[in-house]
Amino acid sequence: MVKVRFAPSPTGHLHVGNARTAVINYLFAKKERGIFILRIEDTDIQRSSKAFEASIIEDLLWLGIKWDEGPLRQIDRLDTYRRYGEILLKKGLAYRCFCSKDEIDKARKTLIARGLPPRYDGRCKKLSEDQIDNLLRQKKEYVIRFKSFMKPIKFNDVIHGEISFPYDHVDDFIILRSDGIPSYNFAVVIDDMLSGVTHVIRGADHISNTPKQIMLFHAFEKDHPVYAHHSLLIGPDRKPLSKRHGVTGIKDFKAMGILKEAIFNYLGITGRSMEKEFLLEKELIDTFDLKSLSPSDAVFDMEKLLWLNREYIKHVSLDRLINEAGLSAACKEKVGVIRENVKTVRELKEYISIFDGDTIDSDAIDFISGINGIADIIETLEDSIKKDSIKSFEDLYDKIKSNSMLTKKEVMMSLRVILTGKISGPPIKEVFPLISKESIFKRLQCLKKRFSID
Ligand code: GLU
Repeated sequence: MVKVRFAPSPTGHLHVGNARTAVINYLFAKKERGIFILRIEDTDIQRSSKAFEASIIEDLLWLGIKWDEGPLRQIDRLDTYRRYGEILLKKGLAYRCFCSKDEIDKARKTLIARGLPPRYDGRCKKLSEDQIDNLLRQKKEYVIRFKSFMKPIKFNDVIHGEISFPYDHVDDFIILRSDGIPSYNFAVVIDDMLSGVTHVIRGADHISNTPKQIMLFHAFEKDHPVYAHHSLLIGPDRKPLSKRHGVTGIKDFKAMGILKEAIFNYLGITGRSMEKEFLLEKELIDTFDLKSLSPSDAVFDMEKLLWLNREYIKHVSLDRLINEAGLSAACKEKVGVIRENVKTVRELKEYISIFDGDTIDSDAIDFISGINGIADIIETLEDSIKKDSIKSFEDLYDKIKSNSMLTKKEVMMSLRVILTGKISGPPIKEVFPLISKESIFKRLQCLKKRFSID
């Protein structure tokens, strides 16, 4: 049975790049009818927090990602890592290193000066049993280092194909620190091994960690999982996607009015070439194939996300939309018209103000031409607006056009601002029937005041 895991470090809110890793793991697990594990990698005590953990969990649930096992927290498993560290010590595959930080730094500098790679020189590997016992008696602090294999490592990555590393690419890396905290690579391997993870699907930034992890699996005489390193999400400048490029946190997308389905869909198709891109969860699962993920980095495409969001705004139920926008059920009909023309839920909320007659965007005023004349005409028509001769927007437009010297464009623009308070928005013909007469006159009075017309 397929078993995957999503293993966020709670050192920040859920970033869209990490959310993509979660979505890919989730789609793969669902497609294969496998198990999805949530593992919290919280061994970086300085930077991890419970608040970030809660925030990540909240965002995953918001996206509709549910796990079958976990959350498993690494910080609760220190005894296990220690036990497995002991096993490697006993097998002679790891050793205690008593070097102080100063000693290591000095040795490193010497190597750099000689033009050699700065790596641990393995001096503690040569300590005799007696020397070790002596140092332990003196209560000298130590870390446990893994005896790296001096042989090339290669593995078959589902997305990248064969990846190989030269024989001496890693030094004897630390697996357990002096405070008993495991290193990232060690904790990952122990957890993946004990949980029976079959597929490790994560960002390509972890490719360089994979040889160390493979060596550890080897040391425990276990087969390593299948690896699939997906490409990273990058900005248009081809640098890793960060705040510099705009919105990157799942919470920020939510705040700007992106529906969870849109972001889920976007993350599920990114880096794959798809004939159809608007895909509901079930379709995303059915069409999912790890091999279809491109090894090249994917430029984050805000326009595509907004396009998908637009499609979902049209697709979800009106009740859901009203709920998302925090509007009352009384707005149903209006939301029904507006939703055809908005890209975000936030825009929807903004456009609903068209109907209350209170708001006029400050930049909209300059787009009105001949306010005196138009106001006069509208006021003389007061009794017939919304009934008799002025039932539709076209009726009102015709009356104004034929009674003024304004151009078509001027009348259209002026009426849009007078009726909606905005220079753009949903088709005016469609919203006009829903704008109450009171709202029209309320806004007109406001405008007259602004233009100092009696
Ligand atoms: N905790 C790591 C991260 O957030 C993931 C490690 C892994 O997937 O192996 O990048």
